[in-house]
Amino acid sequence: MKAGAVVCGAGIAGVATAFQLVVEQGMRDVVLVDPLPPLTLTSDKSSECYRNWWPNAPMVGLMNRSIDLLEDYAHRSGNAFHLTRHGYLYVTADRDRLSAMEAEAGLITDLGGGPHDFYADGDRLRAHFPFLTESAVGGLHARRAGWFSAQQLGAWMLAEAKAAGLELIKGEATSIDSSGDRIRSVTVDGATIETPVVINAAGPMVKKVARLVGVDLPVYSEVHIKVAFRDHLRVIPRASPMVIWTDPQQLDWSKEERSGLEEMGRDDLLNEMPPMCHYRPEGGVGSEWIVGLWEYHRLIQEPVWPLPDDSLYPEAVMRGLTTLVPGLRPYLDHLPQPVVDGGYYTKTRENRPLVTRLGPAGSYLIGAFSGFGVMAAAAAGELLAQLVTGRELPVYARSFGLDRYQDPSYLAEIDAVSNTGQI
Ligand SMILES: Cc1cc2nc3c(=O)[nH]c(=O)nc-3n(C[C@H](O)[C@H](O)[C@H](O)COP(=O)(O)OP(=O)(O)OC[C@H]3O[C@@H](n4cnc5c(N)ncnc54)[C@H](O)[C@@H]3O)c2cc1C
Repeated sequence: MKAGAVVCGAGIAGVATAFQLVVEQGMRDVVLVDPLPPLTLTSDKSSECYRNWWPNAPMVGLMNRSIDLLEDYAHRSGNAFHLTRHGYLYVTADRDRLSAMEAEAGLITDLGGGPHDFYADGDRLRAHFPFLTESAVGGLHARRAGWFSAQQLGAWMLAEAKAAGLELIKGEATSIDSSGDRIRSVTVDGATIETPVVINAAGPMVKKVARLVGVDLPVYSEVHIKVAFRDHLRVIPRASPMVIWTDPQQLDWSKEERSGLEEMGRDDLLNEMPPMCHYRPEGGVGSEWIVGLWEYHRLIQEPVWPLPDDSLYPEAVMRGLTTLVPGLRPYLDHLPQPVVDGGYYTKTRENRPLVTRLGPAGSYLIGAFSGFGVMAAAAAGELLAQLVTGRELPVYARSFGLDRYQDPSYLAEIDAVSNTGQI
């Protein structure tokens, strides 16, 4: 078998790349391979949110372009993937944090992020969002932000690409021939596909697939879980933005609960817990579903399935959410039936993706999408297709290559900043 390009991995990154190559750039003979059904490993586990609110120019540029493309695809598909724009609302009970939020808003606005609304005090915040806690002293509502169905976006792109000639093959890429320092073929489940171009879009397995072309990628994977539950008391309005509590917090357990948790060795739930407990409504006006997330495990490991289990996660998230939305407290007596899933954030140390040439001529990588892969996929897929077909590149392209780690000023910059902007 021969192909013009083989994309390894049919998550949102690989599908977006295939869509760009075949539909937008008219490339022929593109093959997409994956041992799993498309979009079923990580890309259907996400909380599916997007924002252009990032603390650095390359990410603002990438996300603005991605949102432009998402809006275009929503128009072309009759909004098949339910793109909404309720925004991200960052809330705090700490005046210093609120001041820092306001200062950062100036920086992000200068970079091209936003628009946003800033709430300088709790009363103004609660005038718009009356269900929020009395302890909130203000907040920031990022407005070019919202959520959509990543699975349906991927399904639409895949259908368009297949109609334009994309071939989807079930199988795992197990070896890559790059003799003479250029790509010659990929072996998929024992069958060889001759090709000059191979694209590594293997999600949590990007490191493993990169080894097939002799490159050791500087990425690692973190476990991230989410929980969905029915808000049958309808505490949270359907038009609510995603609301993020930006403060650390201490959960309020009874004496008996504390001793039970001590016995279980669950100090993580007894000590001060990290910031960023958050939720968003899921589904349309008739839906009662809420999605909640709070990554307090901070568990870095080799990607393996099933994911580590935390039976107390739904309760911990619900308790955390009552800090920002006290009206949820009745659920602590009768926790609604939770639906838990999750996956890996595969990331670089400074939490920027890799969309780049990789090793031998004809080898490419689109990965390290951490917690922003579904929002970034449209523009990242476009960028990867531009690299493959030799088109003019956007200004942010140079920020997503591996050679950034050879630049001492870049290394100094990333040492100086923390991983802000990530949820
Ligand atoms: C709980 C959670 C919440 C999240 N929330 C958000 C959010 O709100 N917004 C956002 O933008 N992002 C979010 N993300 C991140 C987002 O889901 C990921 O960044 C994105 O799905 C990664 O897509 P991918 O295509 O790179 O990887 P995947 O979807 O994992 O796809 C990779 C594919 O490669 C295949 N593969 C692996 N090895 C091979 C091989 N050798 N040959 C062929 N195929 C191979 C796999 O089978 C898989 O299908 C979240 C993630 C999690 C876990």
